[in-house]
Amino acid sequence: MSSGNIAKSYDVIVIGGGAAGIGVAIALRHAGIENIVLLERHIVGASFALWPDETRFITPSFPSNSVGMLDLNSIAIGVSPAYSIEVEHPTGKQYAAHLQGIAKFFELPIQEETSVLRVTNYGDDFLVDTANETLRAKHVVWAAGEFQYPQLKGFQGSELCRHTATVPSYEELEGDKFIVIGGYESGVDAAYHLAHRKARVGLFDSGCPWKDESSDPSVALSVYTQQRMREKCFLDQVGLHPETTINSVTLENGLYHVTAHDGQLFRIQNPPLLAGGFEGSHRLVADLFEKRSDGFPLLSEHDESTLVPGLFLCGPAVRHDNHVFCFIYKYRQRFAVVAKAIATSLGLPANALENYRQWGMYLDDLSCCGEECAAC
Ligand SMILES: Cc1cc2nc3c(=O)[nH]c(=O)nc-3n(C[C@H](O)[C@H](O)[C@H](O)COP(=O)(O)OP(=O)(O)OC[C@H]3O[C@@H](n4cnc5c(N)ncnc54)[C@H](O)[C@@H]3O)c2cc1C
Repeated sequence: MSSGNIAKSYDVIVIGGGAAGIGVAIALRHAGIENIVLLERHIVGASFALWPDETRFITPSFPSNSVGMLDLNSIAIGVSPAYSIEVEHPTGKQYAAHLQGIAKFFELPIQEETSVLRVTNYGDDFLVDTANETLRAKHVVWAAGEFQYPQLKGFQGSELCRHTATVPSYEELEGDKFIVIGGYESGVDAAYHLAHRKARVGLFDSGCPWKDESSDPSVALSVYTQQRMREKCFLDQVGLHPETTINSVTLENGLYHVTAHDGQLFRIQNPPLLAGGFEGSHRLVADLFEKRSDGFPLLSEHDESTLVPGLFLCGPAVRHDNHVFCFIYKYRQRFAVVAKAIATSLGLPANALENYRQWGMYLDDLSCCGEECAAC
């Protein structure tokens, strides 16, 4: 690529217009960075808009700005989805509309319908290839999320299953008997909505996530989910199969044969539902990050690539030591850290972000409370 083909140059390109991309773009603007663009392959909030109709946030929203605490589902200081949506557990579509409203309110420079195909080094800068043009940036923030990159592999015949990320509505799925493989949040959510419409469901997991006693909802099921599992329709309609690893799925004479590691065989008419998590978009930029032993990108204390300075990661794939930042209230803690690092690199005064600290947001370190605590 020669520099002659470059359409435009920016101080920062943010890739992805979900909760992470919009949140970090607002922090970047608060830091005084003007020459920025956010590239979004569909529309702002596209992943949330694609959630099954019935799926709701498990983290509750509650207005708390008046006492200087952010709503758990807020991505920006002073913003509360509880206040704007007036729903405690919003649906994905409601939250997508909320993100679109915020993007407008903060007048973020967003280019929708722009899919990023590749990010490469270009001297000290980056080239960002989209389907139509090549852009240049001093800094890139990768915030393309996980939802649109589901984990489809894992056992023989997994391609015959249907990932829950591709289900528009559980109400509209044909059939009255289902198998759900994967018993964490998405799997229980699928089983719950199917049970509500009186379908019988077998919920399989290689472990037993329903009994995990950790206090961290990144590891154990949320309280919202535990409550739903205690409802009569769930107890009546859903059969739990803990410690049951599925080895293969085959299609024989119009029936799906689901075989477990211990030889148990289950036959079902509909494709089994796969709720095995997400591969994540970071695989598109895997060559620009070192890898941790768990496969996630290795990050500096500013969430920057340790291989290629200037490239940052934002969103649920952020990991530091044993901290998993997979919920909005967790990964938003990193927005100001990234914005401060980029502002400093551009020679801007980082004190513009000081008020983030007053809202309990991190600015420059990893500690959640400054001391060892049970939650850490
Ligand atoms: C069923 C379900 C329930 C959940 N419930 C909760 C909850 O209650 N509370 C909570 O905090 N979290 C919850 N989460 C997690 C939360 O949804 C994610 O953490 C969040 O969506 C991540 O935001 P993001 O901006 O990183 O990714 P996304 O929301 O996926 O945004 C990424 C954006 O990038 C765009 N994009 C992707 N690839 C490209 C590309 N190559 N070029 C340009 N743009 C691209 C996409 O179109 C998308 O708009 C849930 C997740 C699921 C699946």
